[in-house]
Amino acid sequence: MHPEATITEIDNVVAEVEGKGWQTHISQGSGMTVIGLQGKGQPLDSFYIGQMPGVRDSMLVTAKFKLGSRVFRPEDTSFQIGDVTVGSDQFVVIGGPCSVESREQILEIAQAIKKSGAHMLRGGAFKPRTSPYSFQGMGEEGLKLLAEARELTGLPIVTEVMSPTKVSLVSIYADVLQVGARNMQNYDLLNAVGRAHKPVLLKRGMSATLADLLMAAEYILSHGNNRVMLCERGIRTFDNKYARNTFDVNGIAMLKEITHLPVIADPSHGVGVRRHVDAISLASVAVGADGLILETHPNPEKSISDGDQSLTLPQFDQLMGQVRAMAEAVDRTFPKI
Ligand code: PEP
Ligand code: MN
Repeated sequence: MHPEATITEIDNVVAEVEGKGWQTHISQGSGMTVIGLQGKGQPLDSFYIGQMPGVRDSMLVTAKFKLGSRVFRPEDTSFQIGDVTVGSDQFVVIGGPCSVESREQILEIAQAIKKSGAHMLRGGAFKPRTSPYSFQGMGEEGLKLLAEARELTGLPIVTEVMSPTKVSLVSIYADVLQVGARNMQNYDLLNAVGRAHKPVLLKRGMSATLADLLMAAEYILSHGNNRVMLCERGIRTFDNKYARNTFDVNGIAMLKEITHLPVIADPSHGVGVRRHVDAISLASVAVGADGLILETHPNPEKSISDGDQSLTLPQFDQLMGQVRAMAEAVDRTFPKI
């Protein structure tokens, strides 16, 4: 719609297309109103629509992904989780272990990262391990421990759900449902988290293109769950001798351009080497990520999973200071909770 279009003109267009069976998504931003159409309505006469009072332009969104596209919704999507607003000027940090290992471990980490300024607590209770012989997670017991840690610190919980049949169980405890890299194209799971009433952290598959990631997000969005965060966590390339994965800094910049969804960076899995997690974290802030998810452990050598990439608690604390400075340098705020 034209920037000066009146409410009545907007309403008239909405009534016209809804009368033809289309669903509308209205977004206001960049000084104008965009009426996005979705569904399977009757064919529309785009010339007629284009001539309606107040209409600036009508176009077919040819990108395969629509709901996640900035064409559909020019302004950033932001939503509140606990005391912070993801996708806003606020830069958010999620910290915690790869896996919940024990009550002592998760409570110690939760208290320490809270003190260092983290905004959410991560920890896997259901773990997607490359080997079936590796630790598979504590299951529901781990979820209960996460809930206890939230009780103690007030930090919202981010935890992975691996199967559609577990979405309702994990949703009882979690504040954010994590879909892991290995499950990015598990469409039954994407549909299930799309129907859940929880924000979703969708990790990029190891061999997924940005378009694949956006199409996976589209599954979730198509169910009306708009609270989706995308997560860059490193991809597989030809070079895996030194770093565990290749962290795609480009991808973060590109995603911020083509989608309105918040983008979270995971340098822990992205580089996989503890001593490089700080530099990659700062690069992520600089390139425009909306937040970080960082693995941290009181004793990484003893960690049951991903110890090589987990920060110690003092390292996490030190990094928080640097992240704050970098966030402020790129005009973000680092909320204190
Ligand atoms: C994790 O967050 O611990 C994890 C398993 O991540 P990913 O799915 O990115 O490998
Ligand atoms: Mn991990």
